[in-house]
Amino acid sequence: MSATMTSYENSLAFAKNADSKDPLAQYRDQFYLPQDANGEPLVYMCGNSLGCQPKSVASYIEQELNDWADLGVEGHFDAAHPWMPYHEFLSEAMADIVGAKPNEVVIMNTLTTNLHLMMVSFYRPSSTRFKIIIESDAFPSDRYAVESQLIHHGYDPKDSLLLWQPRPGEDLCRYEDLEALVSTHQDSIALLLIGNTNYYSGQCYPIKDITTLGHSIGAKVGFDLAHGVGNIMPNLHQNQVDFAVWCTYKYLNSGPGSLGGCFIHQKHASDTSIPRFAGWWGHNKDTRFNMRHGFDPIPTAEGWQLSNPPILSMAAVRASLDIFAKAGMQQLREKSKRLTGFLEFLIHDLNNDRIQIITPSNPEQRGCQLSIQVKNADRSLHQQLTKAGVISDWREPDVIRVAPAPLYNSFEDVYQLVQRLKSIL
Ligand SMILES: *Cc1c(COP(=O)(O)O)cnc(C)c1O
Repeated sequence: MSATMTSYENSLAFAKNADSKDPLAQYRDQFYLPQDANGEPLVYMCGNSLGCQPKSVASYIEQELNDWADLGVEGHFDAAHPWMPYHEFLSEAMADIVGAKPNEVVIMNTLTTNLHLMMVSFYRPSSTRFKIIIESDAFPSDRYAVESQLIHHGYDPKDSLLLWQPRPGEDLCRYEDLEALVSTHQDSIALLLIGNTNYYSGQCYPIKDITTLGHSIGAKVGFDLAHGVGNIMPNLHQNQVDFAVWCTYKYLNSGPGSLGGCFIHQKHASDTSIPRFAGWWGHNKDTRFNMRHGFDPIPTAEGWQLSNPPILSMAAVRASLDIFAKAGMQQLREKSKRLTGFLEFLIHDLNNDRIQIITPSNPEQRGCQLSIQVKNADRSLHQQLTKAGVISDWREPDVIRVAPAPLYNSFEDVYQLVQRLKSIL
């Protein structure tokens, strides 16, 4: 880490120079960055919550509106991008982002819905093996989903939900504590479901190790990549992950409430005998419209689809994924490490003992987000920061989350953020 730390300087000139050398700098202009009442651009650091709008989205959606107006129902086959197979146009770019094969991913539903569908298929408890492990700071929706699945199957979360938690006085989860938890409960664990990257601490857990660990005791392993997709490189196929779910409105910039994504490893996706909740869009495409009895699932991740999808929202996802395909995850990740490293450097340089970064300092253990804890602060600090033109995110009791997104944030953004924080403190 020290090698990269020493390659930064605390100056506006340094930030501007880094931007001028940034091979991805052109992409900033392809997004609408929110502005203040005077039309001045805000420092937008909230891509972890809602990504900025690609300027291309409107024309992608307009195309579908026009095809709908011109073609009506025939748009399913005759639209410029026919609606029937529309989700297929997204598979390749989506697969590249999460490190999967195109037939292992599908854009459908929304995140929590997909999480439930995945648990229907991959949480198959027996009288002896029924426990689920999650991280203790799991996102509330994930926890509700898991608890309700346990209850649905007749188990009491009190003794069937196992929490991987930080040690007293610590903020991060230690991998060896997960190993210990797994070893204690061994044969009674049915599923490990881990949010990667953690929404609160920004900690990124070792996907390969966790998956191998879970499989070694015969459990299934799934990840919630809400804060990981378009940010870290989870390499889902190679890492043998059983399933993963994510949303597309955070780092994937596909608009508020947009569709979710789902990964099912090839070894399962092609197993049509796996129990699932079914709908017609998961049925064999050749016979879908025969309207016969007998569900015949598509032998890919598509076999988990329920409904024909909302094309207008799909169009926004397609616009965004086209940008990712051009920029490339590898390049984005490289820039992200530099950008977040710069942020970390500047915050350390504040030399303010009220401030502590919770997120791991090892770039391999984090994505772009840093969670900054400010001692004795309350929500008013965040309000002041907002007034100063910084859009960030506050978590009670005292944490500011900032996430420079490599597609549209600049080194100068990062510099401005820390300057404004400094003047408030
Ligand atoms: C954002 C987020 C969600 C949101 O779920 P939706 O079903 O899309 O509303 C769920 N889980 C995690 C970990 C998240 O970060």
